[in-house]
Amino acid sequence: MSLIQHLINGELVNDSGRSADVYNPSTGQVIHQVPLASRETIQQAIDSAKAAFPAWRNTPPAKRAQVMFRFKQLLEQNEARISQLISEEHGKTLEDAAGELKRGIENVEYACSAPEILKGEYSRNVGPNIDAWSDFQPLGVVAGITPFNFPAMVPLWMYPLAIVCGNCFILKPSERDPSSTLLIAQLLQEAGLPKGVLSVVHGDKGAVDALIEAPEVKALSFVGSTPIAEYIYSEATKRGKRVQALGGAKNHAVLMPDADLDNAVSALMGAAYGSCGERCMAISVAVCVGDQVADALIAKLVPQIKALKIGAGTSCGLDMGPLVSAQARDKVSGYIEDGVSSGAELVVDGRGLSVSGHEDGFFLGGCLFDRVTPQMRIYKEEIFGPVLCIVRVNSLEAAMQLINDHEYGNGTCIFTRDGEAARLFCDEIEVGMVGVNVPLPVPVAYHSFGGWKRSLFGDLHAYGPDGVRFYTRRKAITQRWPQRASHEASQFAFPSL
Ligand code: NAD
Repeated sequence: MSLIQHLINGELVNDSGRSADVYNPSTGQVIHQVPLASRETIQQAIDSAKAAFPAWRNTPPAKRAQVMFRFKQLLEQNEARISQLISEEHGKTLEDAAGELKRGIENVEYACSAPEILKGEYSRNVGPNIDAWSDFQPLGVVAGITPFNFPAMVPLWMYPLAIVCGNCFILKPSERDPSSTLLIAQLLQEAGLPKGVLSVVHGDKGAVDALIEAPEVKALSFVGSTPIAEYIYSEATKRGKRVQALGGAKNHAVLMPDADLDNAVSALMGAAYGSCGERCMAISVAVCVGDQVADALIAKLVPQIKALKIGAGTSCGLDMGPLVSAQARDKVSGYIEDGVSSGAELVVDGRGLSVSGHEDGFFLGGCLFDRVTPQMRIYKEEIFGPVLCIVRVNSLEAAMQLINDHEYGNGTCIFTRDGEAARLFCDEIEVGMVGVNVPLPVPVAYHSFGGWKRSLFGDLHAYGPDGVRFYTRRKAITQRWPQRASHEASQFAFPSL
């Protein structure tokens, strides 16, 4: 069993303080220890970032981008190694791990366009001999706190862009699956990033609180559950920091009577059960417009859920691995019991699944509930497991009302062949990311990612153009160079043309 290290000022650093167990969820065994950084360790990372900032902010954006080009190559060359580490500690399948890495690399590609995205805006002759421009300047030391469910992709939403914008970044990844995140950061060092521009410190609440309280940290990006997102947003904004805090979700898919049901079922299977339902964009509620749609959907889903290929994430050709921890599996099982006792119909029960050769793994089979109502806990709360709930309604308007009344507003989608229904849905649904016949509408890197309502605290979404805004501040410069021979008299009225 090895002790994972921090990456501070370009060096791997041991920590003699507290530590936590890292499991392989497929075997149920502890495979590593991860240090939980003390305030002193966090301060070391902050000091190294502060020291690196003056030179990095003055490094031409094209040179910063060159580091990202090399980083992209290294990530692609190391895809198998990174996917293996993700799968070993998270439990997701190797194909799924490679998929999250590819979506992360998209953000590195976007960061490669640093000279273009930082060009600023220029206006000549805004007045006599006067020119004006807006500069995008870096904030300084910024930090990111990330969840367990995308240990490669979510950190890559943050630091490539923050860094090419000229900032120095401190990453506090999830303590549950930190190895792939650390390896990826080491590859960025190998790509030529100067020491101190990126540090990775492992830890729990203590490390996060130290980042919130440090005056040197100018902005915080957070992705995780809603209670922690809200805590970080309120504590950090109180201290004058810029914050984007992305939280939990309950994503609904609406099935209209005219939907192409076979394709909708294939899409729903992947979106509800892929990654064992541990995705913030997972579909956890299917809203069927009409009983006929619900009955037909269930008839098609049940055999496919029962046929899900479930096993150790690192084996090939699987649909689903285990949940991340024994606590996560027990929490999801608790929701299943709660759903049954509150009157929902448990059509497929995935509890009690045993995977041969992996009897101690944190496995749970796919579950399906029918006749779920908005009052039930399994409808209101984020389960974050392989559980799909069917809610029956009579009209598109009722489906939309249901979604708009929910506290979360991360993602949603509609399956239909009716353009008018799709257009109404896109216009009026109170959700940040919407799919039309697309079950997981995760925006590509050159758009931005973010939910509405209690799925996001802050004004700017993650990555893409909003990410550039988040990691820079504007400076408006107005400059006059009078012609030598001219002399202008004092003007006491407010300047205008
Ligand atoms: P989590 O909130 O438990 O942890 C997220 C991060 O916060 C981790 O780095 C963790 O160490 C830290 N943390 C945990 N407790 C803390 C505390 N009390 N104070 C300060 N920091 C604390 O989330 P998770 O279980 O790792 O991830 C799953 C959650 O993340 C789900 O709710 C999921 O919907 C959400 N998520 C959201 C998005 C999105 O884009 N909206 C993306 C991925 C995951």
